[in-house]
Amino acid sequence: MTTKKDLISLIVPSYNEEKTISIFYEATNKITTKMKNVDFEFLFIDDGSCDDTLKIIKDLAKKDKRVRYISFSRNFGKESAMYAGLENSKGDYVAIMDADMQDPPEMIEKMYNLIQSDGYDCVALCTSSHKDYSLLRKIFTNCWYKLIGIISSTKQVPGARDFRLMKRKVVNSIINMKEYNRYSKGIFSFVGFDTKWIDYDAPNRVAGESKFNFIKLFKYALEGILAFSTMPLVISAFVGLLFCLIAFIAIIVIIIKTIVFGDPVGGWPSLACIITLIGGIQMFFFGIMGMYMSKLYLEIKKRPIYIVKETEEEN
Ligand code: UDP
Ligand code: MG
Repeated sequence: MTTKKDLISLIVPSYNEEKTISIFYEATNKITTKMKNVDFEFLFIDDGSCDDTLKIIKDLAKKDKRVRYISFSRNFGKESAMYAGLENSKGDYVAIMDADMQDPPEMIEKMYNLIQSDGYDCVALCTSSHKDYSLLRKIFTNCWYKLIGIISSTKQVPGARDFRLMKRKVVNSIINMKEYNRYSKGIFSFVGFDTKWIDYDAPNRVAGESKFNFIKLFKYALEGILAFSTMPLVISAFVGLLFCLIAFIAIIVIIIKTIVFGDPVGGWPSLACIITLIGGIQMFFFGIMGMYMSKLYLEIKKRPIYIVKETEEEN
């Protein structure tokens, strides 16, 4: 009697990766040939690329039946691409990998063996080296991890990458988190399960350019805070309370000074400054509230996380 082999799905979010897809496929194919006790499927998610990414993926799908793809109607972002991959993967195990070779395919074998031998539900990778990061990005990343560690109860491993191999039950619990504003690093941590972390030296991108500039990263970091912490709202409430207390004490002091010493009320310039300061603080905290409300607004609309233009099944 032959036992059924495990199937590993490799999800590859790809946005304008015409220079890297073939390199990725060749390198990963070598590993899949080596791992004879496992079957593989490649699931490329073309995230609305405007170069030849989709064409290259289609050519691969023609010559290799294990290659599947989903092409989006426009660029929805890596978070949407990962969700589409997880939702449409068929494997008993699922790995998410970047197309640019920063997630070395050799690791898949190590990750799979660790799950088999030590019974983990998930093996995930993190990197502390960040060789390809600019100094600004390094400082920003370090500060962000420190901040999120303080203000969020969902713990996040510094330098965590999206590269991970998960059992089907982990994948299903992630798919069940259908929120529109997705921050996967937080979602992975939120669903829990027994996870083994491996620290590795992430290589530089093999070709092409990073799709994340500073502004995109800043938005992504903000997304992480808004999705996994309500602390900014708590802080704004406390600051509000503090200012009320200060005002209350100041009023009492002024009343006593006027009654006891007959002091005339003065200091209009300082009053103008105080009004401006408090007005600014109020606007700032309204802004924070507004950001949470805007997320709520988008969540209530229940817009699709991604829209499919075509898949390999139609060809
Ligand atoms: N990616 C995507 N959609 C996007 C941006 C990026 O699917 O809108 C993919 C990209 O093709 C790559 C992975 O996400 O496979 C990681 O992107 P990148 O290497 O640019 O990010 P970095 O490693 O610089 O953080
Ligand atoms: Mg990269």
